[in-house]
Amino acid sequence: MQDQYIHKGMRKQLVKEITKKGIQDKRVLAAIGHIPRHYFFDSALISHAYQDKAFPIGEGQTISQPYTVAFQTTLLDVQPGDKILEVGTGSGYQCCVLMALGAKVYTIEYNKKLYLRAKKLLPKMGFRPQFFLGDGSKGIPGFAPFDKIIVTAGAPSVPQSLLQQLNENGRLIIPVGNAQQQKMLRLIKIGNQVQEEVFSTFKFVPLVGENGW
Ligand code: SAM
Repeated sequence: MQDQYIHKGMRKQLVKEITKKGIQDKRVLAAIGHIPRHYFFDSALISHAYQDKAFPIGEGQTISQPYTVAFQTTLLDVQPGDKILEVGTGSGYQCCVLMALGAKVYTIEYNKKLYLRAKKLLPKMGFRPQFFLGDGSKGIPGFAPFDKIIVTAGAPSVPQSLLQQLNENGRLIIPVGNAQQQKMLRLIKIGNQVQEEVFSTFKFVPLVGENGW
């Protein structure tokens, strides 16, 4: 694994591209500029790593589009020391972006091959989140509450169990809709109330499990 001058140059271009598309948070842009996305690709496919596109990672799953990662991360408003649950480890890229921003991440993946792959790769990159294998649509009750929760697969509705596992003033970022498209939601827990905001449309792979499809 080598992060060379050419990769850094491609990352700069990628950051410019997602800035043009509307991402403004400087810390998020710096994190995207920092994480070598080509480490998540087979060597024959590295030319795809710095395009602003989702890409297959095997097992019918994808590494999210950098713009989408930046969008969700901006909504999450990550602060150093935040305890964050990520549902859908996938490649582990989003997890690295969260950790580059100083978060303590608990990441859960349903697919065993992807879980094992990320568990091997991330420590080599210097990132040591808590990895879990299982159904993240139920959250991880034994490790709750979380300051923030990010779901990186499309859900049919907002799982109540995730809201229950949020701290006071905690926020949940989750794409909700049908199999074709989902709206990005931001839910903030204030006392017994949940404030919901709706953002633009995305297309994610489905959230499976008890509170998924
Ligand atoms: N965050 C990932 C990344 O940076 O590569 C993107 C992951 S991909 C778009 C969505 C992932 O969610 C897939 O790896 C899928 O297996 C996983 N997934 C779907 N339903 C899940 C569930 N109930 N619990 C945990 N992971 C789930």
